[in-house]
Amino acid sequence: MSDIVVKCRQCRRLIAKQPLSSFLTAHGQPVADIYGCSLTCVGKLEDVWYLDELTMSDWMRTAVEEGNFLKDKLKCPNCSTNLGAFDYVSGHKCPCKQQCVPFIHLVKSKIDIQYANRSPENTSEHAEQS
Ligand SMILES: [Zn+2]
Ligand SMILES: [Zn+2]
Repeated sequence: MSDIVVKCRQCRRLIAKQPLSSFLTAHGQPVADIYGCSLTCVGKLEDVWYLDELTMSDWMRTAVEEGNFLKDKLKCPNCSTNLGAFDYVSGHKCPCKQQCVPFIHLVKSKIDIQYANRSPENTSEHAEQS
């Protein structure tokens, strides 16, 4: 199982390292590939990653506990940029209205993610394709 490294895009701090299987679609299913598979609900490109709450990082768990398992922002433990949020209250529905989305999400535009054990030469993440 591949591990995924998550960094704050603002300060570059490593904020999580967790298995690919902990990244979920809006329907709570593990994503197959962090680069290739981001179509989640009714063919829409989601702007967030949902996370399996069982695998969340210590700082996220602390934030959730300090928020009494209600709802709040998830801020970078280093630079306090808003990286995402948790919401155990509203039960937000996904666009197709079939499911409640998972409790925790990180905003894709606020973080950088990559496979932990893939060498940089093999990633095409930053390649310009025009
Ligand atoms: Zn940061
Ligand atoms: Zn849906």
